Amino acid sequence: IPSLIDKADLLNKRKQTIGSKCQIFYQNDPFVVSRGAMQYLYDENDEKFVDCISNVQHVGHCHPTVVESICRQVGMATCNVRFVSPLLTQCAEEILKTVEGTGLDTILFCNSGSEANDLAVRLARDYTKQHDVVVLDHAYHGHLTTTMEMSPYKFDHGCTIKQPEWVHVAPTPDVYRGKHRLSDENLINDAALHVAGQQYAQDVKDILVQNESNGRHVGAYIAEALQSCGGQIIPPKGYMTSVAKHIRAHGGVMIIDEVQTGFGRIGDKFWAHQLHNDGFVPDILTMGKPMGNGFPVAAVVTRKEIADSLGGAVGYFNTYGGNPVACAAVLGVMKVIREERLLDHSKQMGILFEKELNNLQSKHECIGDVRGVGMFWGLDLVTDRKSRQPATELALALIMKLRQEHNILLNADGPYCNILKYKPPLCFNEEDLKLSITALDTALSELETKF
Ligand code: PMP
Repeated sequence: IPSLIDKADLLNKRKQTIGSKCQIFYQNDPFVVSRGAMQYLYDENDEKFVDCISNVQHVGHCHPTVVESICRQVGMATCNVRFVSPLLTQCAEEILKTVEGTGLDTILFCNSGSEANDLAVRLARDYTKQHDVVVLDHAYHGHLTTTMEMSPYKFDHGCTIKQPEWVHVAPTPDVYRGKHRLSDENLINDAALHVAGQQYAQDVKDILVQNESNGRHVGAYIAEALQSCGGQIIPPKGYMTSVAKHIRAHGGVMIIDEVQTGFGRIGDKFWAHQLHNDGFVPDILTMGKPMGNGFPVAAVVTRKEIADSLGGAVGYFNTYGGNPVACAAVLGVMKVIREERLLDHSKQMGILFEKELNNLQSKHECIGDVRGVGMFWGLDLVTDRKSRQPATELALALIMKLRQEHNILLNADGPYCNILKYKPPLCFNEEDLKLSITALDTALSELETKF
């Protein structure tokens, strides 16, 4: 009951009992959630906030269809996955339908994005018999030891886990502030984007060749289809197909991490790796967050021959991975996506986002770049457009002001923590967008001269 939450007391108790390294949003003034409903979150005083952050609660916080599906199954059976449940197969069929005709025909379930990526790397190694992995700079693939070892987002920032010798870091295909950056005019020039994409793909090839001369062999390239923690990066068209050509020529496979970007986040396509419509198909696809709308469930989709290579004589068993309640959550999510035509909605919202955010950029010098698609957008804040110096302090002040004065929850991320990220539940609508844009406009006008 919201009015019974004493925030000061709660935070005090939390400090005494919960590990001090557990991360939270708004470190200096944490946000207490009393309840959620669709694209809104309510704080300890039952005050309503527009949630532009929660990509996990994909079809809306506590969407009644998903709640009903989970609750019904909790009362029916919650068994260990070594018992056979029809829900698992039903769930598999629904997910595999989204990649029909691509050769991706087999699924393995687990409980989190980290587990999915860990399993994906194990599959890649068992299938290719090659051990090393190429990752992108600034990437995050999870909190398990293996996935931390594949996450420059962590090991480059003072983590006790260091980059191991089997991990090789390629430059992020970021055309705004990466290695092969483009001028402002060329950011929307297809030919220039293509050249940059090929240069970034060549960087991956160079790593493969260099490794082989050192006797090391890459079994997998792993990357998000659109890099999220790395700063809402959209790789240029042609990049992934070229990387795939190089990786496969050297005996490796392509793992695409869609833990954040899948399930229609980018609009009319179900998966973000389908964005460029260029026929690119990963060998292994991982998914998580939006899949259960907040209920822990994740999966790896691959080809049968790859799945069959896993573990030699030893089978795969994961107590909760694909348990019937998790499957009920996924089936609920898939039903809502279908019935509420959320892919269409996400696509239409993408068009509005582009218009509104470009308009905002024309009014505020501190917005250096606007990039995104569907319901996945980033505003790259800079201290000056020419140097593209990241405006980290402005971003942090802005997200606090938006929350305190406008009841808007937005986040800042990226290697310099200067990218404002929109990744709301897909039920986020035009009214919510306009409200947040008006708030951003006001807050930017007040803050941009101060930083
Ligand atoms: N991959 C990506 C791209 C992620 O963003 C995350 C979580 N932020 C993970 C993997 C790990 O997922 P989980 O926290 O569910 O283990």
